[in-house]
This record gives sequence, C-alpha cells and structure tokens, in this order.
Amino acid sequence: MDEAAAVRRAAAGAPDVAELAHRAANCTACPELVSGRTQVVVRSGPPAADVLLVGEAPGAEEDRTGTPFVGRAGLLLDALLAEAGMARSSVAVANAVQCRPPGNRPPKPVEAARCAGWLDRHLELVDPLLVVTLGRTATSWALGRGVRLADVRGREHPFRGRVLLATYHPSAALRFGPNGPPRAALAADLAVAAAVARRLRVAS
Ligand code: URA
Repeated sequence: MDEAAAVRRAAAGAPDVAELAHRAANCTACPELVSGRTQVVVRSGPPAADVLLVGEAPGAEEDRTGTPFVGRAGLLLDALLAEAGMARSSVAVANAVQCRPPGNRPPKPVEAARCAGWLDRHLELVDPLLVVTLGRTATSWALGRGVRLADVRGREHPFRGRVLLATYHPSAALRFGPNGPPRAALAADLAVAAAVARRLRVAS
C-alpha cells in the first residue's frame, strides 16, 4: 500500500483542523513512529491564522502533552516571537512530521513524505498569508529536498499562492548557544517574518 497516498486521502476531506487532528490521531503510516509515540501531535494556535509556523517533529514534551513546541525549543520560540512582535497565541503552529521519532532522531525523508498529506491539508485549512518553516525538514517539505537552508533563509519565496520564509530551527539556536549564529539569524528572520506578515495583512 502507498502510505503517503492513504494519508493524503484521509486528510483531503477533513473540513476543519479539529477533524484533521482527529483523523491523524489514528495514523499508522510509519510503523516505527507508531510504536514509539504516546500520541499524534498535530497543531497549536488558532485554526485559521495569517501566519503558519512549521517545525520538524514533536519532541518528548510535545509527545507527552499533545501540543507542538512546548519544550525547550518551544520556550525559545515563544521568546523570539515576542521579541519580533508576534504573539505565539496569534500564530498557528504545525510540524512536518506529526509523531515523535524514537530518541528524538531527525525524521527520515520517507516519514516526512508519508506525513506531508496531513501538513498539506493543514496549510489549506489555516489558509495563512505567510508560512515560516523552521529548520531543514520543514523547509524541504516546502521547497524540496535539494535546497540548503543557508541559501534560502531570511527571504521571501512564492509558495502555493502564499509567501514562504525559511529560517533555522530553535533547536539549532539552543545547540549553538545564546551567542551563536543560529540564534541571531533566527531572531533576524522572525523580525522579517513579522514585517512581511504586517505588509501582507494590509494588502489583503
Ligand atoms: N521541535 C519541533 O520541530 N517541533 C516541536 O513541536 C517541538 C520541537
């Protein structure tokens, strides 16, 4: 069976984000992820929003609580969003992969490919003006696996009739520390994202 197609079919008819999350809750597309997860983690924030942030995959805290970006990376993300003038409560948050990979390893490309149907439908339902991808896995979902994050980050890209901005994942900023380059780049890129969102809102 083609698991990616099955996910796409299951996601396609979901009329709203709550129903999408309900359908995703029983997903069995990736056996290794199914056996390790506590629950499927689909979303946080408003069901429709001007900005959709897309991360990589749930970590331990997200797997436990069912909400994206509530662990250490999430706390940093909240602080950086606030610094940029975007309230976390105003943005929708999703992940490229909805289940925690065992041991917090990065998701495999095949897992991201199977899971893309959930995120594709999530994007349609949130209907944002701006999509911000955090890190390589999310950016590959949007711009393809061939791109280097360093080459595309911090500027606008056309994406499915919307605007996309790619930047580093908050975990990279945590790894390199408060004075490391990813922290500064992420802060700068989120400031650009806030300005782009304001501009798009005025134009819409
Ligand atoms: N990292 C992610 O990419 N997503 C989360 O939800 C948490 C940590």
